[in-house]
Amino acid sequence: MSERKQFRAIKGTRDILPPDSALWNWFEHTAREVFESYNFGEIRLPTFEETTLFARSIGLQADVVQKEMYSFPDHGPDAVVRTEEGGLIAIEIKESLRLSDNEMRAQLQQYVEVLDQSLSRRGASEFVSLRPEATASVCRAYIEHNMQALPGNQKLYYIGPMFRRERPQKGRYRQFYQIGAEVLGQSDAPAIDAEVLEMLLVFFNRVGLTRTTLYVNSIGDKNCRPQYVELLREELRKVKDKLKEDSQRRIETNPLRVLDSKIPDEQPIIEKLPRISDHLCEDCRAHFAKLKEELNLRRIDYKENWRLVRGLDYYTRTTFEVTAEGLGSQNAVCGGGRYDGLVELLGGPPTKGIGFAIGTDRSILSIEESGNAPKLGGLAVYIAWMGQASYPTAVNIARKLRAAGLSVELPPEEMKFKKSLGLADKLGARYALIIGEDEVASRTFTLKRLADGDQKKLAEGELLEYLESERRR
Ligand code: ATP
Ligand code: MG
Repeated sequence: MSERKQFRAIKGTRDILPPDSALWNWFEHTAREVFESYNFGEIRLPTFEETTLFARSIGLQADVVQKEMYSFPDHGPDAVVRTEEGGLIAIEIKESLRLSDNEMRAQLQQYVEVLDQSLSRRGASEFVSLRPEATASVCRAYIEHNMQALPGNQKLYYIGPMFRRERPQKGRYRQFYQIGAEVLGQSDAPAIDAEVLEMLLVFFNRVGLTRTTLYVNSIGDKNCRPQYVELLREELRKVKDKLKEDSQRRIETNPLRVLDSKIPDEQPIIEKLPRISDHLCEDCRAHFAKLKEELNLRRIDYKENWRLVRGLDYYTRTTFEVTAEGLGSQNAVCGGGRYDGLVELLGGPPTKGIGFAIGTDRSILSIEESGNAPKLGGLAVYIAWMGQASYPTAVNIARKLRAAGLSVELPPEEMKFKKSLGLADKLGARYALIIGEDEVASRTFTLKRLADGDQKKLAEGELLEYLESERRR
């Protein structure tokens, strides 16, 4: 007899179980309420897109694109998966297949060749990736649906999972969840940036994520950033020997990212580097100054952080990040910024854009650690029925209470009274409704409040009224 494999969720992914899932639903529901009060509408997007969409928008040099995307050729399933002695072998296409088993390797090689053929036949654009973020998809959809023809700015929000192959740790997963919002249109007024930030902080406040800090910066635009990046590169080359490998590489590929470094030894060096705020063009300087005015008007607290550059290529001018307490080093709960050239880069019309993405996993961790998590839902009524003659009444009453919006547990099989009440307790029910043959005969039921054992005899008609008045208390 073959031993059965014990399946586990893939590293970096996890299940969100009740009662945690109630907290997640509440968090997402609150986001919908707040965002809709700012006239944002939900956009539901695919979870995978052409790989080139992400490569083009996020940038080839970004870690997300270089190392973290789950990409695969999108061909018929026959070529990727084959059944072998009852087990499935799935293959991942990489330049270097790191396999020790020769036989496996030969077999996979064969698959790879089949794949290569089907790929070259159908073109490389049939490489798809699980989305590592959603801004690229929103822009793709904006172009595809000709949304620039719609009146006013397009204000869209999305909720859903993202995928990045990172090293899993507290607050960092390979499937994680974001809630994001984007404003796309013809205007780049700083008031838009400020309103987006106001909405974000109103939401955080509403969900009790209050020990947060908002950092803002401006990283210039295509007129001033290239010169600054060149200057930064020159200065970095002078101190190259003192930097670690990652930063050394970034001097050539993406010098702005060096500013992101958390390596202690590099900090004194970075502090002496030229700052973008001294090199913004007149328009960017004015935009940033106006943004700060708008933030003050809205009484939004923020800190300027000249090193906040964000990892993705597409940002221009305003960038921001919100950090929260209780999360250790993975403390960013939201990142965002302006991306004025992105729609054009993806083949659309000239369009301004700004948005953010909230990390739901980390936000919820922080809310839980601060003790601000609300008590949600829970079982209201457990129906302790006894005797087959009372069962039809129990079924009937359960349905009525449920129709009134109460959460009701009706045991599917008859239980001994003591055991039944014991289970009601363990399930955390607020009330046990006792229905025995006497109760059915007299049409009055005993409602027991489990917290203190208080009991009331109520007629069926009074029952609902009483439970509802209790719920309002
Ligand atoms: P970090 O610097 O923490 O890696 P990031 O700059 O890569 O974040 P963004 O791409 O701006 O993050 O995504 C916005 C938010 O999504 C982050 O602030 C964070 O809360 C969340 N997030 C990003 N990557 C992960 C992940 N692997 N696991 C959980 N949450 C994540
Ligand atoms: Mg990251």
